[in-house]
Amino acid sequence: MTKPVCYSTKAYATPAGDAPLAPTTIDRREPAANDVQIEILYCGVCHSDLHYARNEWHFTQYPAVPGHEIIGRVSKVGPEAKKFKVGDAVGVGCLVDSCRTCAECRDGLEQFCNGMVMTYGSEDKKLGGGTLGGYAQSIVVREEFVLRIPANLDLAAAAPLLCAGITTYSPMKHWKVGPGQKVGIVGLGGLGHMGVKFARAFGAHVVLFTTSPGKTEDAKRLGAHEVVISKDEKQMAAHAGSFDFIIDAVSVTHDINAYVNLLKRDGNLTLVGAPEKPLEVAAFPLLFKRRSFSGSLIGGLPETQQMLDFCGKHGITSDVEMIRMDQINEAYERMLKSDVKYRFVIDMKSLK
Ligand code: NAP
Ligand code: ZN
Ligand code: ZN
Repeated sequence: MTKPVCYSTKAYATPAGDAPLAPTTIDRREPAANDVQIEILYCGVCHSDLHYARNEWHFTQYPAVPGHEIIGRVSKVGPEAKKFKVGDAVGVGCLVDSCRTCAECRDGLEQFCNGMVMTYGSEDKKLGGGTLGGYAQSIVVREEFVLRIPANLDLAAAAPLLCAGITTYSPMKHWKVGPGQKVGIVGLGGLGHMGVKFARAFGAHVVLFTTSPGKTEDAKRLGAHEVVISKDEKQMAAHAGSFDFIIDAVSVTHDINAYVNLLKRDGNLTLVGAPEKPLEVAAFPLLFKRRSFSGSLIGGLPETQQMLDFCGKHGITSDVEMIRMDQINEAYERMLKSDVKYRFVIDMKSLK
């Protein structure tokens, strides 16, 4: 492997699962043929960043630079890149490349390609080591994996659409969420609050399940018709057997069977949360009423663009709390306490 010509950029990285993130300098390749170089303006903070930084999924390559809700402006384009010009407002989500030839890629479902390259946590075949994410001043990505941001959207508030947005939009499209349906969202965090907004925009009756009674008013403002405190068995029992679809966006292991029981005949519970430890699924709640329990992973590039365009049309963005890069460790601690309203976004100017 001949290493391509590189330039250096400031970033925040962690050297080990038990170490805080700290300033560093990393290499990025100079944009080659189809590459786009992006000056990062904002990067959302996903709970996956924390799982990855702390090696909770047991595949972290250190040093780790998390960040996959990237918004910025094109600063350079490779000689054969045609999709963007310098100055364009663009986004990068969880994927920066894939094999581009397999059946999944041809179907626009690059997230299921065996050769997909994640923004962080994959092998970097060009530079060696692991791919390094968006907690940085700039990034270089193949043009096919770069998304257009609708001009009317606030750029900082659009950043979380690149992961939290598409991760909740995609399964709702797959399971055809729409008017006349009763849809549940479990957990009002980064993913959950986007789930509430999309389910409402798709015309469903939206019920938010939370462990935090203090989030009730916010959930209603964000679009929930009803809010259920999930620790209250009486409130849960009142909804037994009544949901068409539920999306579970909780970051830790919890009782999933309580939600299976709330589904109607043929109802589906889709898990998008990715807890470190396995969940226990009981047989009978699934067997009775032919309910199903499935998962979903972000979304492919065409659908991510479709989601962004939908957000542009309907004026949908994330509710964000801006932080400086040096507040990231504190932000992780707050995320662990479910104290995020409802997505932290790093102002990358603070890294200069
Ligand atoms: P987040 O902002 O931290 O939200 C998680 C929410 O889960 C919390 O706000 C809280 O909501 C709820 N929660 C926390 N502890 C709980 C507990 N002990 N019992 C019940 N509920 C609890 O996280 P996020 O960024 O939305 O990510 C959520 C999960 O999705 C993470 O595991 C992340 O890795 C995963 N993820 C998956 C994909 C995918 O493609 N499938 C993409 C992105 C992220 P309440 O306060 O309302 O209870
Ligand atoms: Zn994410
Ligand atoms: Zn492929």
